[in-house]
Amino acid sequence: MAKTKAVRDQYAALRTRISEWLSPRELKKIDEAFAFAERVHAGERRASGESYLRHPVEVANILASIRPDAATVMAAILHDTLEEKPYDVRHIKRAFGDEVATLVEGVTKLDRIQLNETSSWFSIPLLHRRTKERLGHERHVESLRKMLLAMTKDIRVILIKLADRLDNMRTLAPLRPDKRRRIAQDTLELYAPIANRLGMGEWRGELQDLAFPYVYPQEHAALQERVARFLPRYEVAVNQAKQILADEFAKVGIKAEIHGRVKHLYSLWLKLQRYDNDLERIYDLIALRVIVNDDTACYHALGIVHKLWKPLFGRIKDYISLPKPNGYQSLHTTVFGPSGHILEVQIRSRPMHAWSDQGIAAHWLYSGAKEQGSDKRRSVVVSRNELGWLDEIRKWQQSLSNVTDLKATLKTDFFSDRIFCFTPAGDIVDLPAGSTPIDFAYQIHTTVGDRCIGATADNKNISLTAALKNGQIVEIRTSDKQHPRRDWLSVVKTEKARSRIRTHFTNGH
Ligand code: MN
Repeated sequence: MAKTKAVRDQYAALRTRISEWLSPRELKKIDEAFAFAERVHAGERRASGESYLRHPVEVANILASIRPDAATVMAAILHDTLEEKPYDVRHIKRAFGDEVATLVEGVTKLDRIQLNETSSWFSIPLLHRRTKERLGHERHVESLRKMLLAMTKDIRVILIKLADRLDNMRTLAPLRPDKRRRIAQDTLELYAPIANRLGMGEWRGELQDLAFPYVYPQEHAALQERVARFLPRYEVAVNQAKQILADEFAKVGIKAEIHGRVKHLYSLWLKLQRYDNDLERIYDLIALRVIVNDDTACYHALGIVHKLWKPLFGRIKDYISLPKPNGYQSLHTTVFGPSGHILEVQIRSRPMHAWSDQGIAAHWLYSGAKEQGSDKRRSVVVSRNELGWLDEIRKWQQSLSNVTDLKATLKTDFFSDRIFCFTPAGDIVDLPAGSTPIDFAYQIHTTVGDRCIGATADNKNISLTAALKNGQIVEIRTSDKQHPRRDWLSVVKTEKARSRIRTHFTNGH
């Protein structure tokens, strides 16, 4: 009973927090979701022995930092209820409506995508040795990340999933070592990169730092010790610089907040690998963050910094006019600081700061805040020549700046024009929407395409001209007697299939 009370208190605290921006009517619906989850998870415990309900309530609480809407809070509280036996999505639909049901279903579906476990229907084909050899681990992981985003019709599903992952990582200790390792590995390879793609630096950093000791225990311990020895010296210099800067800004009338932020351990580790493992060459172990009101003040502040301390040649980066692909904006400079210590200073406006911590969610947070005028909406301008699929996210980010209906924006498909199907061996075949088994066959090999006579999707026979669906496992039957047919030209969607069929006929067949 004591445990039940603890969760009720936890829920009450959450409720107070979200009542800042949600209406009493919405809170009432959320209470109902809590009561429902309480019934579903009754008596259930996590590996740590605590009441299961603590977890979904905490997931909602983690999300509270990005000011979610009521449907997201409800879906967070309900996100694991479909794992319990008598309950299915119809219960949720009936009690809480389609929107919440769709979110919960989306989160549940994502749970099936894992890198290393063989119990889920996704990873069985994906783990096939031939696949791994052919695709290489990196491409395999990249495909999974793509698919994870592709399967998500609503960005809120990803946000809930990331919060879920955060709480799971924070409470990983009681699990079996092999299980911990697997979950941590998935976190590093799947979830942290997705948080990064979405510009959510704060969550990405925490996910990586939580996973680091489970995946690379020795490296983690060694680095932690090194940093602990190194940091105090560094801290003195940073604090000194901070004071000098604050005084100087006050003199010229720049309003600024200045923080010293210790670099996340995992990203430090990655960086060290590029710098001969030499800690002395890492100048942003503690970066000085200067947060000012607007873009102009950023450049003004940079001028002041350079007047105080000489910058290192080639280390001034203007991510305001040239943002990083995930939308990150700031001015970075590295200077010879007080008493010769080399320091990195990062200067950004308040909206840029929110973006660097919370990414896509920051926009949500900003538009959600009623006191913010529309001029506070920032557009994210991003450079072009990046990985193709990032374009989708980028377009989406750009559209954020002028879309008024936030709900419609949140539901934007990342990859509405692409589908992902599997070969029986687990290769992912990336196709334009509307593609047929003929396209699929040509994608595998021209001879497979030329000779295809039939297909199955998830073990059911389908027509060669049927439109394939996301996630289907497609098998092609071939015959030596088959040849490309002219009428295929009118159904295929890929350029590869079309040109191959044409070639066949222009070669005189
Ligand atoms: Mn969960």
